Amino acid sequence: MIRIDAVTKRYPDGTVAVDRLSLEIPDRAITVLVGPSGCGKTTTLRMINRMVEPTEGSILLDGQDIRQQPVNTLRRSMGYVIQNAGLFPHRTILDNIATVPRLLGRSRRQARERAAELMERVGLDTALAKRYPYQLSGGQQQRVGVARALAADPPVLLMDEPFSAVDPVVRKQLQDELLRIQEELGKTIVFVTHDIDEAIKLGTRVAVLRTGGRLAQYAPPAELLSA
Ligand code: ADP
Ligand code: ADP
Repeated sequence: MIRIDAVTKRYPDGTVAVDRLSLEIPDRAITVLVGPSGCGKTTTLRMINRMVEPTEGSILLDGQDIRQQPVNTLRRSMGYVIQNAGLFPHRTILDNIATVPRLLGRSRRQARERAAELMERVGLDTALAKRYPYQLSGGQQQRVGVARALAADPPVLLMDEPFSAVDPVVRKQLQDELLRIQEELGKTIVFVTHDIDEAIKLGTRVAVLRTGGRLAQYAPPAELLSA
């Protein structure tokens, strides 16, 4: 479990992005952070993998303060997916994914096998393996981003508006695939979106943030609707 405990983030210019936020994020479920642009969703996500340090409060992973382990160890346990996939433009699709197992010490061949397996897992035709990112549609690129995030087999996936840049039909497919992947692999997913429909569809629990970085509600989607 990830526990966010009374966390405040004040940027150097004085902006309070997150204000005394406390959340318990359960294992093996999808927790969605939703709210309008600027309400502190990305900042919260980045504090979980220490790309941003809280000004006050602490974040615990399985009971241990995340500052107590080396940041690289922490990040290896957390895949990160962003809006435009963040792929290496000069590497093929297979290499974009295989890079991760290579970095973790697998042989070239093992890494490529793992990458091919992950392409199938996220619904990508392996015929795309030799293409470059620009030769893929937006939806396909996002699938590569998800495959790469899964490549180290991290228990946690942090996802920042991963499906916002694709058209509605593809977005729905990606959402359905994420639900399937989550069910099959049992990942702990923290998913950021500004789209309440997406939050309700994907979230096991939904944290609604409001401008100023305050938590407005934290509940399963069904209870949210009745509130
Ligand atoms: P969201 O993801 O909900 O759009 P963010 O976490 O990106 O929100 O931003 C929350 C607030 O913090 C916004 O007012 C934003 O302008 C501000 N902010 C984000 N990053 C920085 C930064 N590096 N320096 C100063 N203010 C920032
Ligand atoms: P989407 O509706 O998901 O955005 P696109 O219309 O962008 O899909 O792409 C449709 C198909 O065309 C995809 O299979 C994609 O791989 C292929 N494609 C798109 N751009 C290129 C390109 N520059 N070179 C080769 N194939 C491409």
